[in-house]
Amino acid sequence: MSVTTQEIYGKDSWEGKKPKFELNVCHLYGNLLNTYGDNGNILMMKYIGEKLGAKMNFEIVSIEDDFDDEKYDIVFFGGGQDYEQWIVSKDIQNKKEEIKKYIDGDGVLLAICGGYQLLGEYYIEASGRKVDGISAMPHYTINQKDNRFIGDVEIENEETGERYFGFENHQGRTFLGEGERPLGKVLVGRGNNGEDNGEGVIYKNVYGSYFHGPLLSRNSRLAYRLVTKALHNRYGQQIDLPSWEEVLGHEEKESTAVTDVKTKVGGNEVK
Ligand code: GLN
Repeated sequence: MSVTTQEIYGKDSWEGKKPKFELNVCHLYGNLLNTYGDNGNILMMKYIGEKLGAKMNFEIVSIEDDFDDEKYDIVFFGGGQDYEQWIVSKDIQNKKEEIKKYIDGDGVLLAICGGYQLLGEYYIEASGRKVDGISAMPHYTINQKDNRFIGDVEIENEETGERYFGFENHQGRTFLGEGERPLGKVLVGRGNNGEDNGEGVIYKNVYGSYFHGPLLSRNSRLAYRLVTKALHNRYGQQIDLPSWEEVLGHEEKESTAVTDVKTKVGGNEVK
């Protein structure tokens, strides 16, 4: 099944106008792994892409579809419950080599929660059952007994100093491997595993995170990074793109304060 998703993600704003660029976005298992508003990440990519002059094409690639690693400029892989994740874990083994090729070829990919877990070696469900990942990246995820990490999170990316805000809801505890670095250092919340102070992952041009809700609309600098990276990958470094300040700056107040995070759910202590 391969669905063109103009109906799902809305019309684009290019009718009668000529876009400067075009990007193909793959929503991997978008009909199965799409909990907690993860789809909003796609809407944010579309919003930014259009502001940067790009026509954004979307396609869901799901069970029994082929994944063509040369076709896409951005891949989005959302999160889900253990049940859906188990179904996806079986099917994704057939797309494993192509997805690896896409990642190794510096393709831009955003993975949330369950999607993030499945790109790694394995994921142990709440029940203790082991779910195979595709080992495109070296992290692994173990379970915790009768507990989930739920609540608001704030992190700081140590290379850029950017702060990202989000909401986590996962039982899996992920540990990064060689060549992987966290998306940010945890300032508030639990992050990957509640132990090593890291949240999410950066590996080549893959960004993984436990932030639901969605991550990109709340963190437009990260969204800008992803979409501009994809445009540079496709059209070269020399293309002239407006800055974040020009296209998005007026919409987001600079927030560096921990007070942006309202810790509404018990169990997430402020560090
Ligand atoms: N089922 C996974 C977990 O509980 C992923 C959850 C999610 O994607 N929200 O860790």
